[in-house]
Order: sequence, then C-alpha cells, then structure tokens
Amino acid sequence: MTAQPAAAAARATVYGYPRQGPDRELKKAVEGYWKGRVTADALRETAAELRRANWRQLADAGVHEVPTGDFSYYDQVLDTSVMVGAIPGRHRAAVGADALDGYFAMARGTQDVAPLEMTKWFDTNYHYLVPELGPDTVFTADSSKQVTELKEALALGLSARPVLVGPVTYLLLAKPAPGVAADFEPLTLLDRLLPVYAEVLADLRAAGAEWVQLDEPALVQDRTPAELNAAGRAYRDLGGLTDRPQLLVASYFDRLGDALPVLAKAPVEGLALDFTDSAAANLDALAAVGGLPGKRLVAGVVNGRNIWINDLEKSLSTLGTLLGLAGQVDVAASCSLLHVPLDAAAERDIDPQILRWLAFARQKTAEIVTLARGLSEGTGAVAAELAANRADLASRARSPITRDPAVRERAAAVTDADGRRSQPYAERTAAQRAHLGLPLLPTTTIGSFPQTTELRTARADLRAGRIDTAGYEQRIENEIRDVLAFQEKAGIDVLVHGEPERNDMVQYFAEQLTGYLATQHGWVQSYGTRYVRPPVLAGDISRPHPMTVRWTAYANSLTERPVKGMLTGPVTMLAWSFVRDDQPLGDTARQVALALRDEVGDLEAAGTSVIQVDEPALRETLPLRAADRPAYLDWATEAFRLTTAGVRPDTQIHTHMCYAEFGDIVQAIDDLDADVISLEAARSHMQVARELAAHGYPREAGPGVYDIHSPRVPSTEEAAALLRKGLEAIPAERLWVNPDCGLKTRAWPETRASLENLVAAARTVRAEL
Ligand code: GLN
Ligand code: ZN
Repeated sequence: MTAQPAAAAARATVYGYPRQGPDRELKKAVEGYWKGRVTADALRETAAELRRANWRQLADAGVHEVPTGDFSYYDQVLDTSVMVGAIPGRHRAAVGADALDGYFAMARGTQDVAPLEMTKWFDTNYHYLVPELGPDTVFTADSSKQVTELKEALALGLSARPVLVGPVTYLLLAKPAPGVAADFEPLTLLDRLLPVYAEVLADLRAAGAEWVQLDEPALVQDRTPAELNAAGRAYRDLGGLTDRPQLLVASYFDRLGDALPVLAKAPVEGLALDFTDSAAANLDALAAVGGLPGKRLVAGVVNGRNIWINDLEKSLSTLGTLLGLAGQVDVAASCSLLHVPLDAAAERDIDPQILRWLAFARQKTAEIVTLARGLSEGTGAVAAELAANRADLASRARSPITRDPAVRERAAAVTDADGRRSQPYAERTAAQRAHLGLPLLPTTTIGSFPQTTELRTARADLRAGRIDTAGYEQRIENEIRDVLAFQEKAGIDVLVHGEPERNDMVQYFAEQLTGYLATQHGWVQSYGTRYVRPPVLAGDISRPHPMTVRWTAYANSLTERPVKGMLTGPVTMLAWSFVRDDQPLGDTARQVALALRDEVGDLEAAGTSVIQVDEPALRETLPLRAADRPAYLDWATEAFRLTTAGVRPDTQIHTHMCYAEFGDIVQAIDDLDADVISLEAARSHMQVARELAAHGYPREAGPGVYDIHSPRVPSTEEAAALLRKGLEAIPAERLWVNPDCGLKTRAWPETRASLENLVAAARTVRAEL
C-alpha cells in the first residue's frame, strides 16, 4: 500500500451534541407539552432554538461540519422508526390523528396502548425505544424531520451533515412485534428497508446534503457471517445509488473487527472509526486492510463517553499515523457527545484545579478543533494548547487526589485470601441456618420502601436550611420506625430499614467516599426527558467514616428479627458513575471494593447478621465483544468478593440483580460466592429460577414473586402460584420469597397490601411442603 498525503486540511466534526440545552430547556418544554401547559408550536420553537444554539456553539468553536438530525424530542431510534414508517399497529390511530402526540404515544404509551419497549443503547446508560417489526412490516419513507433540520443548519450558512441510524443497526436493534414468532429475524427485512433509505438519501441530497452519516454501532458487536454479509450488501446497494450524497459509515463504542474489511471494501466515500483506547485495535486493523486510499476517514480520537481531557499529543500522534492510511483524515469524538454533560465551565463547586482535568461536550469540541488544526497546520500552530494540556495532565497524574499512597498500598497488598470466605458455601450455610433460625421459604424485601413526598421534602428542607441535621435525622428515624413496625406486623422474616436516607443508591455512597466528585449541572440523558447526573470517580477512593451503620444499627435496635444491611456493590458504583481513564477499571473497582469492605465489617461488628450488596449493573457493563468478557468478569467478581468475603461464616451475604435474562452469566454469579441472590422474575413467570436450575446454581435464591414496576397488587394465590413454580426449579431449603426489586417508586397502600399477600403466600406454600 502506498501512503497517500492528506488531500485537504483536516476538518473538525462531531456526530451529535447534548440536546437538552444549558438549563434542560427541552425537558421542561416537552414535559410542559405533556401537561398541556406548552403548545405544540411553542415546543417546536423551543426545539428549533436549541438546535440553532447548538450549531452556533459548534461553529463558533471552529467545528467545520455540524451534525443535523441528531436532535430528538425523545430518542433517535424512535425517530428512525418514524422515518421508515415502522409504526406499530396499536399506535397508528394516534399517529394518524396527530403526528406529535402519536410520537409520544409510541414513546410513553397512553391510557389504552402500551409504549414501545425501552432498552439500553449498547453499553451506555442511554435507553432507546426498540423497533417492533414482523414479516408484514411495510416501510415507507418520511424524510421530513431530517430534511427540515438540515435546511435549518444550511440556512445559518453552515456546512452540515445529516446523521442517521444506519439500516443494519436499525434492524439489529429491532425485535419481533407482539404476535410475531419469537424467532423472526428483523434483519430479513433488509431488502425492504434499503429502498426507503435510498429515498431519504435522495431527499437529503435534494435539500443540499453533500455528506450523510449512517451510524452502524451494531457492527462493533460480535456478528455472524450472515450479518456481516447483510452489512456488505446494504452498503453495496446504497453505495451503488446514483442520486445520493456521499456516504460516511460510522462505528463507535468498540473496534469493528471482522466488519472492518467489509466496510472498507464497500463503495462508500468515508468511514468513521473509534480510535480511543478501548478500540485501539482499529488502527492496526485499518493498516492491515490497506487503509482507505482516496476515502475520507473520520477519526474518533476524543473519547465521547468520558468526562476527562484528552491527551492531545497522543491523539496527534495517532492522527499522524492515520494520515498515511486515508485520502482525507478528519477529527471527531469517538461517538455522539450525547453521552456527556454540556459544559464543565458551568461547575462552580468543583476545585478549579480539578476542573481543569474535566472535559464535557463543549470542552471536547474545543479539543477536536485544536487537534484538527494541529493535524493540518503542524503542532507549532497549537503549541499553547498543547503546553496547557500537558500541564493539566501532569497535575492530574501527580495530584494527591489521584494518588493516595494509603489507598494504593492497601490495594497492592490484596491477596487471593482476602477475596475468599473462611468456609466454603456448603459449610457456612449450615452455620447461617443455625444462627438466623429462619423458617423454610423465608420472606424478605429488596431494601427500599416507598420514598414518600415527606422524605423528599425533608431532604429539600435540609438542603435549604429549613431544618438542621438533627431535625432531618429525626424524620429519618421516624420513617425507619414505621417501616420496621409494618414489617413486623406483616410477618416478614428478614427486615430492612427501608433506605429512607438515600436519594439514590449510587449517589448516596459517592457523596460519602473520598475521591468521588459530584457535579451541579452534569446532566446526561438516560431516556426521553429523564436525565441523570452521574457522580465522577475522580481520585483514589477511601471511606473516611461509616456510611450506613447508623441507620441499620438503629433499625436493629427496634426488633428481635434480623435486619439486613444494605450496600451498593462496586461494579454498580462504577457502572452508574463516570469512571477514571487513567487506570484500569479493575483497579478502580478494587479501591471501591476495599472501601465497601470496611463498611461490611462495621455493619457486622454492629450486630448485622445479613448484609446485602446490590449489583444490578453486573450484566449491563458486560463488554460488547465476547472475547473481552472473561477479563471483565474476573475483576468484577473479584471486587464483589473483596467487598464481602471478610465476614464470619455465619454472617449471610445477599446480592440482588434486576433483570430477567442472564443465562450467560450464571457462572459469574456463582463466582460472587454470595449466600443468597434475589432477582426479578415475576413477569417472566420465574424464568430465572429455571435458568439458575439449568446451570446447576447451588445457592439460595429469591426469584421475585411481586412485580414492583406497576401499582398492581398481586393476590395471595398469584404469588403462591409463582412460588410453586419456583419450587419446581429450586428446592424449598434454598428458596426465598421476595419482590422483584426495591419499593422506592411504589406508594404505601399497594406496598402494604402486596407484602401482606406475599407473606400469606409463603405461609400457604409452606403448609403444603
Ligand atoms: N436495594 C435497592 C432498593 O431496594 C436495590 C435497587 C436496585 O436493584 N436497582 O432500592
Ligand atoms: Zn433491583
């Protein structure tokens, strides 16, 4: 292969930008519209103004080509369903009556029709609405949203590139519509879908698009040869069209692997690839296929998912290598900036020194522009930026915040034995039985009880200074007393304090651990109008003082029955935070685990005999590629064991996860070496119990018999029927009785009734044993 000199100056671009506005204006407008307080026209005007503001911000920062069509009232995959006319039958009337209301009906459902299912967008914390397709699906093109938004940007005099979810990814993310055979493969609809994309591409070209970006992140996952073939065919077809803009096929979140040669060969004009650390293999793979001679390569060198400043010199060196591998090299973030908050400069409470290490969407955009300039004009042109970047990186690397010798020494001294219980499961389970004296089919809950308005008001009052700490703690104690009294009266066997003091299961701990940072404005979209503000794992983690013991001990003092201590596990603490990029995830997990281990020890010392460590995120952080999973599960399970293994044999360790399918990680769940696991199971009629049994899972388990996602109260008979189903898979000596998940989103009346029925069901089934 011959190295080609760059044909033109490198351009700076991004694939998408946070949609909500600096003050979450979009959320307010959309929710106002739902409540009837904002008119459709006012909502449209707010949205258009936010788009214009974003484009101006990008252009002012020096971005050469802005994205369009990345805006959404709710979700870009839902927008794609609308674009290709994939409207489920049950939503057609609503969409026909009013396009905007129909759109929201698909997103949120109405009184009469269910919404589309929602699920996680790859391994991010963003959720998309799952397209529902079947053999009868008829696709029709509606390019209006894409065309309108392109024209808006062009009207500002900007160079703009529409961004679309690509056809292969769209189909791979879809599922069979209700009533369609479960083994229906949406990808079989590809030939029907491509003409619709062709029509949209023609419309965009007519509207002035020179380039269109087609996002194919599904191609960074393990794909079958048939799927790769389909991808090849899709881009041969679209590339072969005559009436179309130039095509940029984008991938992100991981390396392309076997899909890279397929896309490199396709008759499209450009590829966008992730070149951040976790996808670094793309670089060699690109060289191995001979690069992209004569084509456009958009290099995602600035991480679009973390909140840290880039190592500009390292990126420039990567970009320099890439120059020899493509006709034109442009610079971008690795993925849409949708996954990071808008502007670090809005943070007023963060130490200015630390603030210099942070890059949100705005700061990342500036980095991309700097890199494009450095690539085009030479490093001399950006010498000042490089010097400042070097100084900031150095200050981070040697800061006592990121390098706490005590934390590091302790983590380095960890041995295998620290992660091993003193007795094997089979022996200690007998000790626990004797110690706890529980009946067969013991009843418990997952931790939280209803988060009432009074509790939220108490927290707001404390923040606003209307009550003092003593006043606040008084209210929390009152709540714990009520929660305990109810559980005793209802006859639950293992009690909880109800978690009234927790705003959020990660934030509560993050606020108390040294090394964690909170932001004031660091909102990112989770789904629709729901935004979260993940805490930042910024430095070495330590626990200056006990975090939960006070409340658990208080609850313990009120009852003779065991009260379960309640902690969030290390993997979930990482999964729902922004993580460090300057050390392996496993190192961060180990630090968090050691801090939690101290908490577990203090809980036990305070007389807690049952301790639950929640890991609902264990499965969602699973790497996209199967080859990367064993290493992940290794550090993830080690971190859990490090958290829990220091207890006495007769102290019972519980864990909890909330999802219905996990056949692929039963071994990892066993490797946690917990004594009891509770899981979501009510909606799937105890499917998880059968999966556990099928894999020979040897421990105690509580598949949920009460679906807490709805206010519906399960009857005693219904819960008993689920329990009997559970008993078909798990013997009575190992079966627990509990709800699917915590009760914090529920109201008291249905919680009371449901838990009373749950206890009654346990008694009924015990009597049958
Ligand atoms: N203990 C937590 C609760 O009950 C668990 C929440 C979760 O699994 N997401 O709320
Ligand atoms: Zn749960």
